[in-house]
Amino acid sequence: MTRINLLSQRLANQIAAGEVVERPASVVKELLENSLDAGANRLEIDIEQGGIKLLKVKDNGAGIHKQDLKLALSRHATSKISDLEDLENIQSLGFRGEALASISSVSRLSMISKAADDDQNSGWKVEVEGQDMEATLLPAAHGQGTTVEVRDLFFNTPARKKFLKTEKTEFSRIDEIVKRIALSRFDVQFTLQHNQRVIHKLLAATTDQEKQRRVGLVCGPAFVENSVFVEMEGSGLRLWGWVSLPTFSRSQADLQYFYVNGRIIRDKLVTHAVKQAYRDVLFHGRHPAYVLYLELLPSAVDVNVHPTKHEVRFRDSRLVHDFLFSSLHKALADVTPADHFVPDANGQAQGSGFAINDTSVNYLHQQSNLSLADSGQANSYQSFRPGAAAVQQQIAAFEKLAGDNAEVPPLGYAIAQLHGIYILAQNKEGLIVVDMHAAHERITYERMKTACENEELKMQPLLVPLSIAVSQTEAECAESQKQVLMGIGLELERAAEESIIVRQVPSILRNANVEQLVRDVLSDVLEYGSSDRIQSHQNELLSTMACHGSVRANRQLTIPEMNALLRDMEATERSGQCNHGRPTWVYQSLEELDKLFLRGQ
Ligand code: ADP
Ligand code: MG
Repeated sequence: MTRINLLSQRLANQIAAGEVVERPASVVKELLENSLDAGANRLEIDIEQGGIKLLKVKDNGAGIHKQDLKLALSRHATSKISDLEDLENIQSLGFRGEALASISSVSRLSMISKAADDDQNSGWKVEVEGQDMEATLLPAAHGQGTTVEVRDLFFNTPARKKFLKTEKTEFSRIDEIVKRIALSRFDVQFTLQHNQRVIHKLLAATTDQEKQRRVGLVCGPAFVENSVFVEMEGSGLRLWGWVSLPTFSRSQADLQYFYVNGRIIRDKLVTHAVKQAYRDVLFHGRHPAYVLYLELLPSAVDVNVHPTKHEVRFRDSRLVHDFLFSSLHKALADVTPADHFVPDANGQAQGSGFAINDTSVNYLHQQSNLSLADSGQANSYQSFRPGAAAVQQQIAAFEKLAGDNAEVPPLGYAIAQLHGIYILAQNKEGLIVVDMHAAHERITYERMKTACENEELKMQPLLVPLSIAVSQTEAECAESQKQVLMGIGLELERAAEESIIVRQVPSILRNANVEQLVRDVLSDVLEYGSSDRIQSHQNELLSTMACHGSVRANRQLTIPEMNALLRDMEATERSGQCNHGRPTWVYQSLEELDKLFLRGQ
């Protein structure tokens, strides 16, 4: 039997380093957090060879006293907490007192610091090298603040070093960490250099515009152009930040930044709440993009869950989940066509409680793929012959468009229908093209949801009850889920082993193809399985039904019908996307059209 012995300090540190120091980027994270905890507002990050050769962070923070310099490198040495009560009310990013010890045990580390209240002129430098934990202390020139240099990471732990990726990959991870931290502190200036080249220089941002600029620099301009600013408060929680419009979704969950009291975290509960909020509007399998800040009392959240502090535990997780969900759900529901056209001077959308950025005036749901050249074929052109009343309405509409002061609704007035699929409309600024099926589908869906919630979904008996041949499983399902189906306005009755009778349908859907509708709903119900799950999938069932109840392609609409649809869209929540997250309308300003025709150039 091998006997038990106590590990040496340095081996213990190296083991701890396994958790905290995974790669160069994790060193950068720890160093930046230390600088921010020291109150710095100017950070310079210098990287060489992906951080494998050198990582340097210089700050203008409070610095470290000469007497504390060596101590700072020991394990369990921290200035941030001293007793258990502090642990329950953490305000700093660090508190475990192990980062410097861990990093210095697997690298060649030097730290120069000059404390704010040190009256001596020079600073002090402490140096350690991996195994040899005995630190040396020397005077060194330095302004107020601290510089930490980490060289030859993992030089003494070859097994670890093997896991490092290429210089480029390691640097891109560092870049990502710097971006994340830069978004957590708008008031701090960040400079990032790689191999002597400046990669980012982010100046301190104070105004809303400057903050938005930083978000644009970090997340890309497209994100800023396609997002709304949200700000909500309640039950001791505050949420603010930018969330992407559903039509700006991504194939990967890579543009998602979430901060809790300034600390970036990845949390299942948060991801789930956000996903739920987008569920109704996001195309299947797509991911939303967001930069969100949650603020709450430090005592309401436990940050001591994981060594890298990537996770937190909320004391009242239900409350946080519901707050996130309802805030975002509301913000997304409130995006109406009007928001895209009427930001005021401050970029504030009127009355809706969130700001729309300036650029959204030129907002385009997606790159317009209107190929105008193709539409000139005379033989496929179907002329539209409106009735007398429609002509009257059209004349009145054009008068309004021509007048200077008249109120023109955001989506304007219909001009014509294109290929039985699109409605063309004009507003004061340009051309609107609406996918009429997608738009109608959303309107029907929202109406059914509201009606269902208020238990006002009207049913209409079929004049001739419809008998449908189905499989035995489907027939059984119709029988056993009778109540759930009634809840969404469908009255089905089992007629035989393999046949059912449809007696009533929601009156909104009276024009739908009832047989297809019932088949699709039954197949959904079977897919959702157990009955309590079916109930929770009520919205999906309604969405399936709405799809059948909506105007199909190739149905001729009259101009008044088209205008009514446009007005409904303006009044309907989430009307910018169909139930599957596809856009329902696109917009092209006259200016953009002029460009297409090279006018005025
Ligand atoms: P922790 O951050 O958890 O306290 P660290 O090992 O990261 O532990 O740092 C140990 C201590 O060293 C900190 O508590 C702090 O007092 C001091 N320190 C580290 N970096 C800096 C810095 N850049 N400026 C001022 N003090 C620092
Ligand atoms: Mg620290």
